[in-house]
Amino acid sequence: MSHVIESLGELRRSLAGTVVDPADPEYDAARLCFNAAVDRRPAVIARCLGAADVAAAFDFARAHELEVAVRGGGHNPAGHCVCDGGLVIDLSQMRTVTVEAHPRIARAEGGATWLDFDTATQASGLVTPGGVVGSTGVAGLTFGGGIGHLTAQHGLTCDNLVAAELVTPDGAVINASPDENAELLWGLRGGGGNFGVATRLEFRLQSLDRVVGGLFTYGGKGVRDALRRFRDVAARAPRDLSCHAVLVVDESLSPALVVSVCYTGSAADPEELTALRSSPGLVDDGVRAQSFLDQQRVFDSPYGENRHYWKGHFVRELPDELIDELLRCVVSLGRSPGDILIESLHGAPKDADGSAGAVGFRRAAFNVTASGTWQDAAHDAQQVEWARDTAAAIEPWSLTGGGYVNYMQADEPIERVRAAFGAEAFGRLQALKTRYDPSNVLRRNQNIPPLAEETAVR
Ligand SMILES: Cc1cc2nc3c(=O)[nH]c(=O)nc-3n(C[C@H](O)[C@H](O)[C@H](O)COP(=O)(O)OP(=O)(O)OC[C@H]3O[C@@H](n4cnc5c(N)ncnc54)[C@H](O)[C@@H]3O)c2cc1C
Repeated sequence: MSHVIESLGELRRSLAGTVVDPADPEYDAARLCFNAAVDRRPAVIARCLGAADVAAAFDFARAHELEVAVRGGGHNPAGHCVCDGGLVIDLSQMRTVTVEAHPRIARAEGGATWLDFDTATQASGLVTPGGVVGSTGVAGLTFGGGIGHLTAQHGLTCDNLVAAELVTPDGAVINASPDENAELLWGLRGGGGNFGVATRLEFRLQSLDRVVGGLFTYGGKGVRDALRRFRDVAARAPRDLSCHAVLVVDESLSPALVVSVCYTGSAADPEELTALRSSPGLVDDGVRAQSFLDQQRVFDSPYGENRHYWKGHFVRELPDELIDELLRCVVSLGRSPGDILIESLHGAPKDADGSAGAVGFRRAAFNVTASGTWQDAAHDAQQVEWARDTAAAIEPWSLTGGGYVNYMQADEPIERVRAAFGAEAFGRLQALKTRYDPSNVLRRNQNIPPLAEETAVR
């Protein structure tokens, strides 16, 4: 690492942004990852301010043979935003979001978070469907798909991505839009950060002011029926209601259920909300008319405090048998394991087909994820085992055998990544990778290897 430290003056001179090295007081905060189980020490963190900085950082990494990691919001549970001994392209100072009212378009810099984005767009009464936790990165979430409080209404986040500016590892700045590099735009809609570092993303916007939203909480003997009720409501829900469920344990280590809803229709008393409100086991009704920004605050998750290991499947259906399995799994550890997240994919995601983007899970009914969350490192092995066992219990109902790339850990085999897209889409993504990143510089992600590399590994 010493030859890199000696050359940092060269990098500092070539960047408009700043360089953080291990001697810097900011170093520990700058290398922190959402997942506290990830503790890596990069040689250098390049805090970029624009496309030219990103290109200069790539140049420096190439010249010094450094591994590259890309930091957006730092949320990826696999900890892909940081690497040992390498160079981090840190976009956290590039968070400006601008909004154009006619046509309704938002332009976000590559490091913007959903709080940055929603604050800017809601100032004009506009929105795009994003993530549910404000500190999550816009680019990272979009490039893996994007499921949230407006999925039923407006589709996956990536369905609303209309253009992007990227810096490829050779330093070229390229655009992706329906008119320019359209195949790359297709790949960015689900294929992750495999092709370049996005410095600008453009999204289509919709009007939205207030919603009826918040959380219903269920406990006691009613939880099984409440989860069945959630499933039935989601199955017949109109597209102006998005809903997701989180299965947890309460203080007595019995199952408890939280259902988030976001209704944007005009009915004063929508029957789906009445059905959820009247379900057995309701212990708290936190659903009310509120601003969309308040809706975006109903979930929160502390940054860098908890250890995480997540694993799951997109399922075709959520039959009673699978519900019983989930109720068994959530209590099987004998302490809180974290949660089991059940995200509904009804409504608008089904409008598009494979030609719109690379995501391979549109036909699924739900995304079901064992989200292992804990604090004590002594519990690492048990927690990982719990998440794997729970995912194995879900697998018989899996649509594709692949998981959600946005929630995958770094230990997922390439077969799971391939299955997430399907063989045909994976082949197209590999062709894009071979064109834009033939040396697989951007490998610290749910990796799509270039064609030559995969052949060589075999
Ligand atoms: C608390 C929490 C809440 C979440 N909520 C949701 C949710 O509601 N819906 C959902 O779908 N997912 C959600 N996720 C998952 C999230 O979408 C992914 O983990 C995503 O990768 C996070 O992006 P990031 O920029 O924050 O993470 P980072 O770790 O910074 O980046 C992850 C990867 O994304 C890529 N990347 C990031 N920025 C860029 C860029 N500008 N250009 C190119 N590549 C880039 C890189 O490959 C990078 O390795 C959540 C995760 C957490 C931890």
